[in-house]
Amino acid sequence: MSDAAQPPRKRSRQPHLEDDAELGRYDDSAFVEHPSLYYDDGNVNLSCENTLFRVHRSIVSKHSPVLCDILTSNEHEDRKPDILRGCLDVPLDETKEDAEVLLKIVYNDFRVESLKFAASELSLLSSAFRMATKYRIEPTLTEIYTRIQDRWPSVLDQHYKRSTIEKTLGVRRPLIFVRRPPGDSLRAATSTVAKGRNDVPQATTSMHPAHIIALLREAGCNDSSLLTPLFYASTCMSTRVGEHGRALEVLPPTDFARYVRGQERIRSYHTRVAVLVPVADTLGLPDGHVNQCFPAIKSFWATLADVGVYSNTGEIFATERDPVEAWAAVRLRLVAAPRPQICGECNQRLISRADSIGQVLWSNLPAFFELG
Ligand SMILES: [Zn+2]
Repeated sequence: MSDAAQPPRKRSRQPHLEDDAELGRYDDSAFVEHPSLYYDDGNVNLSCENTLFRVHRSIVSKHSPVLCDILTSNEHEDRKPDILRGCLDVPLDETKEDAEVLLKIVYNDFRVESLKFAASELSLLSSAFRMATKYRIEPTLTEIYTRIQDRWPSVLDQHYKRSTIEKTLGVRRPLIFVRRPPGDSLRAATSTVAKGRNDVPQATTSMHPAHIIALLREAGCNDSSLLTPLFYASTCMSTRVGEHGRALEVLPPTDFARYVRGQERIRSYHTRVAVLVPVADTLGLPDGHVNQCFPAIKSFWATLADVGVYSNTGEIFATERDPVEAWAAVRLRLVAAPRPQICGECNQRLISRADSIGQVLWSNLPAFFELG
């Protein structure tokens, strides 16, 4: 049970109002009626800071069992109830902004489905999530969890679909293969890449997943299927100073350690499989194709090492911050532009290998982040 179920703190009364207090009244001149959440036909006041909300007792009680308890316990107290402008007044220990969001949820003026998880929506989402948790407004909480899962799915196919949508919307930069020129330096490769980058749509600022992790943790969430994609997405975000402020600082210390260790493991696995050419036996090449196709397979795989380490933004792993998606891109490349020296059957083996690496990476994420 949350603290909110306890009777609210009593408003401190001023000494010269003692007589009025005895009569259950107090000076109301300090209160300002909320411009939209003060219903003339309401029958109970909720006050926060110096703002007065007038609401319908039956409506708030129906939506929130916690508010229902607060109103009931206030009524049954021994002392006379506080009356303000003709109605029972119940002070809530919330900021005016949080109370606004709480009542917008109650009165259906807050639509969870309209959330885009844009950076600008962070304070709204935080308020809504905290209020829905504290006041146990289950339908809103369920909707928020569903929206989070839609945006950061735990199923790999849905993750791929999601990243395709984001590229279409310009939220995510498309993955571009840039091969490091043979014998060239990293610096030269990065300048080539930087030019190419201007051609892709600029990413709009989306909310950093670390903020969602922090909110979920505050509510006591330990659900690995919800948290894992958020941790993974955090490692895919830019760490450039200024782009996401100090988002990672909101992570609880143990989660920050998970983020760091998980990222290390993901990148270590990704580099290892990108750099090591698979052995012919493990690819399961048909008889005779070791001589026929394997040399071209080795040469193809050697290009992946470049892709894995030197990415389109020129920083090590800057693109392969989404290494799972990088392996889907390898598949696309094999499907769209198969090498003539590799037969169809062997090409299919390579496609299966890329798929399997992406799947293994994805299924290992809970263990990488120590969430499983
Ligand atoms: Zn072959």
